Amino acid sequence: ALIITDECINCDVCEPECPNGAISMGEEIYEIDPSKCTECVGHFDEPQCVVVCPVECIPLDPAHPDTRQQLLGKFFKLHPDK
Ligand code: SF4
Ligand code: SF4
Repeated sequence: ALIITDECINCDVCEPECPNGAISMGEEIYEIDPSKCTECVGHFDEPQCVVVCPVECIPLDPAHPDTRQQLLGKFFKLHPDK
């Protein structure tokens, strides 16, 4: 999963781009729910939040590493119709 760092400026552009609804406003800045973040695997070739973020504050979350298989597992769980 990816994580939003405290460099986030709350510009709101990433939230609607997430195909998994993993991004939401937290107490102070936007947050990513690691259980829903597939790093965009299954939907896009690259993480859409990273593509649109103007301050590049969305790195890999070292606390929530995922193999490609785990990312695909999350994708199929979130989108059982696929
Ligand atoms: Fe959502 Fe993709 Fe960003 Fe994860 S990498 S939070 S799935 S847009
Ligand atoms: Fe924060 Fe980047 Fe999302 Fe804007 S695009 S709300 S700066 S994480």
